[in-house]
Amino acid sequence: MILSELQTGEKAVIVRVNGHGSFRKRLIEMGFITGKEVRVVLNAPLKDPIEYEIIGYKVSLRREEARQIEVVTEQEAREALVSDEHLQALPGDLAEKERLDKALAHVAEERHHNIRVALVGNPNCGKTSLFNIASGSHEHVGNYSGVTVDAKEGHFKYKDYEITLVDLPGTYSLSAYSPEELYVRKNLLDAMPDVVVNVVDASNIERNLYLTTQLIDMNLRVVMALNMYDELQHKGDKLDTKQLGYLLGMPVCPTVSRDGQGIPELFDTVIKIYEQSDPHLARHIHINHGAELEKSIKRLQMILYGNEDIRSQYSTRYLAIKYLETDKDVEKTLSGIPEIKALQQARTEEENRIRELLDTSAESAIVDAKYAFIQGALAETYEKYQEERPRRTLTDKIDAIVTNQWAAFPIFILLLWFIFWATFTIGQYPMDWIDALVAWTGEKVGALMADGWLKDLVVDGIIAGVGSVLVFLPNIMILYFFISIMEDSGYMARAAFIVDKLMHRIGLHGKSFIPMVMGFGCNVPAIMATRSIESRKSRLVTIAIIPFMSCAGRLPIFVLFAGAFFPSSPATALLGIYLLGIVLAILSALVLSKFVKDDDLPFVMELPPYRIPTAKATWRHTWEKGKQYLEKMATTILLFSIAIWFLGYFPRHEDASTGYQQEHSYIGMLGKAIEPVNEPLGFNWKMDVGLLAGVGAKELVISTMGVMYAQDGEEYEGLGSEEDTQLQAALKSTVPTAAALAFMVFVLLYFPCIATFVAIKNETHSWWWAILLALYTILIAWVCAFAAFRIGLLIWPI
Ligand code: GDP
Ligand code: MG
Repeated sequence: MILSELQTGEKAVIVRVNGHGSFRKRLIEMGFITGKEVRVVLNAPLKDPIEYEIIGYKVSLRREEARQIEVVTEQEAREALVSDEHLQALPGDLAEKERLDKALAHVAEERHHNIRVALVGNPNCGKTSLFNIASGSHEHVGNYSGVTVDAKEGHFKYKDYEITLVDLPGTYSLSAYSPEELYVRKNLLDAMPDVVVNVVDASNIERNLYLTTQLIDMNLRVVMALNMYDELQHKGDKLDTKQLGYLLGMPVCPTVSRDGQGIPELFDTVIKIYEQSDPHLARHIHINHGAELEKSIKRLQMILYGNEDIRSQYSTRYLAIKYLETDKDVEKTLSGIPEIKALQQARTEEENRIRELLDTSAESAIVDAKYAFIQGALAETYEKYQEERPRRTLTDKIDAIVTNQWAAFPIFILLLWFIFWATFTIGQYPMDWIDALVAWTGEKVGALMADGWLKDLVVDGIIAGVGSVLVFLPNIMILYFFISIMEDSGYMARAAFIVDKLMHRIGLHGKSFIPMVMGFGCNVPAIMATRSIESRKSRLVTIAIIPFMSCAGRLPIFVLFAGAFFPSSPATALLGIYLLGIVLAILSALVLSKFVKDDDLPFVMELPPYRIPTAKATWRHTWEKGKQYLEKMATTILLFSIAIWFLGYFPRHEDASTGYQQEHSYIGMLGKAIEPVNEPLGFNWKMDVGLLAGVGAKELVISTMGVMYAQDGEEYEGLGSEEDTQLQAALKSTVPTAAALAFMVFVLLYFPCIATFVAIKNETHSWWWAILLALYTILIAWVCAFAAFRIGLLIWPI
């Protein structure tokens, strides 16, 4: 009987919970577990939801949900007491209630041990052979498709279980195109097998996995029978079935259904999945359809999620994907729901958007994404003994070059180098324009306003602050222009693949690499780019180590110091600093990946075919990142610029030079206050103030120190016309070489900058994580600078 038919006051014991994964999970979390007793508190004919009591709690379930739960009623238990031999053997002196309870438990257990298993797979993958060998029947086995016209059912006992095996017609996919496909789908959704066995022809795995990806969308309990395993071995191919299972989120059991090899293991696994006795055996994964399609899917899914009937019967993600594919059957299913208008409109809009961006229909984009997923999964697990046919497609040809074991890295490095070069050389022009524009605006606004703190706030605080954010906009957009081309063309997926093994050694993932490299440009877009990393752990650790990648903002400081203190080998000093950052990033990754909670589940790196990115998509992505940068950063940076301005501006000291003002402002006081802390590093308070200003943006270190040293009014040797050289001269005569080295190390490592800090907070959704990282980087900076100072003193004694 099913739970929804139970009347008020009646009691029953749960046999099983049907339905798709997330629905079942929710019910199980509520306590609807096999063997548990449930009582109906109130089930009025017209009342929805129905109220139940389970494990002492009252919960209400919608009628639709209760329909998915199979139970044994007291009535059924009473009947069993009469008919069931096992129960007849109960001792006669047992109380009536106890008898009934025993009967309930017994029947529930017995029914729970009936498992319905459906065989799903391509034509000719060996389903009927498997069916025959498992159930002992003699269905006709043929080597052509179409033999199985409709479902055959067989029963057999396996261990304690009574298994009902259903042999469904062979299909290549679960679209609603052919009667077979529709039939299989209806069977999976309506008849609800407890476990689906996806029979896959191992000798033709790529095509067979397409169906698998659709089963994954449906969120069913699936076990893969990797059939014809003998043929795969015979050919000499290698397949890491365990890893494939991890990636797909389902157990993979090699079988040879012609002679029965692997069949017992297959059914052992089916039982384990049914009983959910091993949580590591299966997990629900989402096939990543790429950022744009995922956006569309999410949008439709949100609409569907609002409908509770739909939500309890189907996986909304599955319906959203199918609806986006304009699947006729799903359209029919959804035609009556109240949300249909909104849904239709959303689909039309999303279809148009996808067509514009990807230059193809949503339907074929989904198919492409699924094959990209399959390609990625197989690239990690499957090794062909030898190429059976010459490489033919363009993708194969390009892959032969860019993933070639010798050429891959040089090509990759060259591309990156080019992108950085372009970002900074081309970016220089708009940067200068914006800089000039900001200066001009400051001047004009300044001229309009009366002297006083308000003018200084507007000009030096707000305009200069916003300006300092704005100047990086061209860099970010150029960088993203190239990144977007690399991504949309399909190259990025390969790049991630190439470095994957290397990255795994430090507890990261191939997809972490691009953000790390981008960090050399600017940490902010780099941290935003970590979004493509699915694993939360890899993502957090990647975010944590990006600040060690020396960004372009730090470069002027190093150039200045290296030029002043290591005039004979500034390039070596510079390289050394960059390498130090990289080494610390790697060490931090190693350490942090030990601490971050381990959800490091493997995921497929999709390998889409190469294609020429559309102008529209490229522009969209570029602009989106630019917008994101402005929106998310500008507000916070503005606040912090004002704060830093405030600290440097107050308290006022009338008719004093800028330098005097700085020294006696709050920031100057702060600098002096932390002087003792940084004394072991050899820093003076002016350097400390520079560091404090660098909290706003690393660029500010130099300009602040310039102001501080300028106020001394002393003439330094080698005084040039440029401020930098003047500052260099000043530094050289007041700062020991060892302290300069320590300062470079400190600047490299300490608190990234406000913009990065905010980016970290935004991307991790946690102030806590951002603050922790800030403290961590400061600590590391101090320790390393201290070591640098001490070692430096040995080489360059004061
Ligand atoms: P169905 O269309 O999925 O039901 O596939 P069948 O069970 O009719 O099998 C198709 C063909 O594959 C038959 O000739 C089987 O003998 C053969 N076959 C099935 N399983 C295996 C296997 O594990 N290894 C090999 N080598 N052949 C198999
Ligand atoms: Mg068959």
